[in-house]
Formats: sequence, structure tokens, C-alpha cells
Amino acid sequence: MIILTGKSVFGGVEIGRIAFYKRNERQVKRWHVSDTKAEVKRFEDAKTAAVNQLRELYEKAVKDVGEENAMIFEMHQMMLEDADYLESIIHIITGQQVNAEYAVSTTADNFAQMFSAMEDAYMQGRAADVKDISECVLNILSGKGQTGIDTEEPVIVAADDLVPSETVQLDKRMVLGFATMYGSANSHTAILARTMNIPALVGLGNFLRPEYDGHLAIIDGLDGKIYIDPDDDTLEKMRKKQADDRAKRTLLLELKGKENLTRSGQSIQLYANIGNSSDVGLVLQNDAGGIGLFRSEFLYLENDTFPTEEQQFAVYKRVAENMAGKKVIIRTLDIGADKQVDYFHLDKEENPALGYRAIRICLTRPEIFKIQLRALFRASAFGQIAVMFPMITSVGEVKQIKQILEEVKAELREAKVPYREDMEIGIMIETPAAVMVSRELAKEVDFFSVGTNDLTQYTLAIDRQNPKLDAFYDAHHPAVLAMIQMAADSAHAEGKWIGICGELGADLSLTETFLKMGIDELSVSPSMILPLRKRVREIE
Ligand code: PEP
Ligand code: MG
Repeated sequence: MIILTGKSVFGGVEIGRIAFYKRNERQVKRWHVSDTKAEVKRFEDAKTAAVNQLRELYEKAVKDVGEENAMIFEMHQMMLEDADYLESIIHIITGQQVNAEYAVSTTADNFAQMFSAMEDAYMQGRAADVKDISECVLNILSGKGQTGIDTEEPVIVAADDLVPSETVQLDKRMVLGFATMYGSANSHTAILARTMNIPALVGLGNFLRPEYDGHLAIIDGLDGKIYIDPDDDTLEKMRKKQADDRAKRTLLLELKGKENLTRSGQSIQLYANIGNSSDVGLVLQNDAGGIGLFRSEFLYLENDTFPTEEQQFAVYKRVAENMAGKKVIIRTLDIGADKQVDYFHLDKEENPALGYRAIRICLTRPEIFKIQLRALFRASAFGQIAVMFPMITSVGEVKQIKQILEEVKAELREAKVPYREDMEIGIMIETPAAVMVSRELAKEVDFFSVGTNDLTQYTLAIDRQNPKLDAFYDAHHPAVLAMIQMAADSAHAEGKWIGICGELGADLSLTETFLKMGIDELSVSPSMILPLRKRVREIE
């Protein structure tokens, strides 16, 4: 038995096999072929197999996510049959007498470059598609499987680290827990694990070896340990621990339907954070009062190209309807930094966390921003949607946003499309600048939501993604708490409400402090709603 210790991101105990996350990092080599006819045939067979794979994917996706969302796989099939694409590949094989892999990869690069250079945002999006379909053919040519995890039973997913675009693609029903060599406790993989309510350990280092793939293991998020090839004694002990933990969680269920009131009667709203419309089930199961943060960028991360207004509208409407009149606060696109989306073609930056991200992208690419805003306003007619904007640093930005909102509303009025005129508009307080001008900002909006993950990063000048700095990343730092207090005072002085949607909101050792500060709402992972309610009800 091997025991490894890491940083626990979320509690719970799970037992299952380890599956290492697979990535196809290949270097395509160029070599001479004399029988070009046979090489063209090899390519054509691979292309036919890829089309068949895509057809199967389409059929599966229609069942899982509906026809509209499955269309992408149909479009990919068509792209693989595109005459120009095929002609280019065959021309390279025969003209240069080279291997199919080289011809496919070169064509993919050329076409991607051509699409990226086009003016139209939709056509730019095709660059990622042509790369994707070519990847599929290259996988078949090289005999390599798909990326991700390939399993028929739920597994403990192991990896060096996972980026958000990888975690969103995972079939969540097959994930018992996460174990990663690197990664910080504040990363989005960590946030996903908390949302999914499954154990996760990060920072296991290279003691977590790929050869453990397929081995039985126990992941213990309560103690931050993973037991590989456990002996019978350990298995028995951990099964008991798992049962005790589950019993504790069941006990918490008794708090469902109860109010979030302290002993002296102070109340606080407890809302949930989600990244996906399928998380709404967890929100309702855990009896959250609403959704305090819907990270809408996950919709973009899940897609190979810009999600259309219709796709977004369908998702926001579904969430609003399923929440049946409870508040749903949707945060507009917050990409950049660790959340990279290929089809945005963002440049590599020296300091991505201080770079071109979130509202800065939206304000400089209003055509993308407006599509999301139209979808949000349209969905507002179907429930209690509120919208909030990330990474605000100035009143000027808020005024610019409000101007764009007015333009979108005017367009909808003109087209006689219904929307809620009184939809609440809020901003995230996650930069020290926003805190310092919070009194002025509060005059412009209906509410604040403090993003403590970024507010801590920017206040302490500590990269939240850097695992080496976890020991310095002190979200309890008096400077961070003073920032929250200042934002709360500003909001209240202007008669507005304030919530916390960063991970600190779920820190039970601070619940009393937040109540004293007068925080009106805490938005946390669905699994933390009932433990928080328990804590609130214990406080004088
Ligand atoms: C935050 O910064 O606290 C926040 C809630 O946003 P994200 O973690 O998505 O950056
Ligand atoms: Mg943030």
C-alpha cells in the first residue's frame, strides 16, 4: 500500500480505481512516402473512421444535451467532407510525397490561420473547429485514443493538473474524486470539486505516478490522503469513515426548509454558486435560497466556438425556470487568466491575471458582450434573473456597461421582445480599486458581490494559481477583511445590498464576522449551504 499526502480541497471519502487523464501531446513528423496512392487511401480510411466517430458522438449528444447543442458534431462531419480541406491534404501527400499525418497537420494549421485572419467573429471560430476535426483524424492515423478519461465505471481522476476547459469536458457521472500532482487549492478545479461535492486532493507532487493508472485507491478528502493499493484493514477502516461521513451529511438534511437565522434573529441569505445549468439540481437539493453566482464563462469553455444568443438564452431561461422565481445572479463572461478559450485567440501575456480578461474583453469586443446581454435580458422574462459584472475597477467602466445595456434594451424594445425592465444590475468587488471607490460605485448599481478569490489575490499581490504561494495566500488577512468591511459600509450607506461569492463565504470560522459586518448574502458551493445554515443557527 502506498500513502500520499496532498492538500485537501474538499472532504469526503471515495473508493475506486485511478484513471490518469490522457492528453495527446504529439509532435507530427514529416517523412517521405513513395507509394502516395496507398498513403492517400490511408488518409481516406482515417477520415471515414473520424466521420463515423462524429456521427456516433452526434447521436449520443442529441440524447444527452438536445439537438441544438449536438449540431456542432454534425457541422464537424460536414467540415471533414469539405472539398477544399480534402483537396489540400491530398495535394500535399501527392505533390510533396509525404505522410498523411504531416499533410493533415499542415492543412489544419493553414486553414486555422486563414479563419483566424477573417473579420467575422463566427468565421474566426471555425479555426478551432478545423483543428479539432484534424486532431480526430490524427488520433486515428497514429492509433491514439481520445483525450480525457476512458472508463465504464466511476473513477478517481488523476492528472498533473487540469485546466477548466478539461474539467468541463469530463463526464461528471464517472468522477469519484480528483487527485492532482500540482494545482492550487484556489484553482477552478478545486471550485469544481466543491460544487460536485466530491473529494479532491491537489499538490501530491510527482509521487502520484502514471503507472498507478487502473490501481484501486481510496481518496480521503477529510485527511488529505490517498491510499493506493490499500490493504484489507485500511479498506475496512475507510469504508467505516465513509459511512460516518455520509451519515453526518444526512443529518444536515434535517436543516432543509429551516431559516438562516441566528439565535437573536439576524437573517442572512444563503445562495449557491454554479458553473453549469446541470448544477441546478444540487442547488435545489441543498435548499439554497437562490443562485448567487452563475459562472457563465463555463458555457464558453464547454463550446468549440462562440455560443450563440439562442444557445445562451436556452440555458439562462432553463436555469431561471428551474429556480421557480428564486433569484439567479448570472455573472457575465469572465475569461482570461486561467480560463483560456481557444477560439478567442487571446495573446500570451506576461501577467495574465493582470491582463486582458473579464470585463476588459467585453468592453473592447462589444459584439460578443451584446450577444450575451441580449440572451440575459430575454431570459429575464422567465424568472428572477439578475446580472453582475466581473473585475470592475472604476465608475467609468460601469457607466460604459450601462450605456451598452441601454443599447441592448432599445434593440429588444424595438423588436418587441419581452424582458424585465427592473432586472437587478450588480458588480463584483474583487479589485482593491473597486473597494476604494465603492461608495461611488454603489450609487450606480443595485448590489455588490465580493469575489474574495481575486480580491485576496490582488490585495496581497499573490497569484492564486501558484501552489507554492498557498502558504502565503491568507484570505483571513486583516487587509482583506478590512476591504470587505469597507465595501459593505459603502453599499449600505447607499441603501444597496452586498453578498460574498468567493470561496471565503463558505469559511465557517468567519460566518460570525460576516454577520457582524452586515453582509446580506453568502453564495457558496451547493454542498456548503446546509453546513453554513447550521453555523448561522448556532450564532448568538
Ligand atoms: C472570485 O474571484 O472570488 C470569484 C468568485 O470569481 P472567480 O473565482 O470565478 O474568479
Ligand atoms: Mg474572480
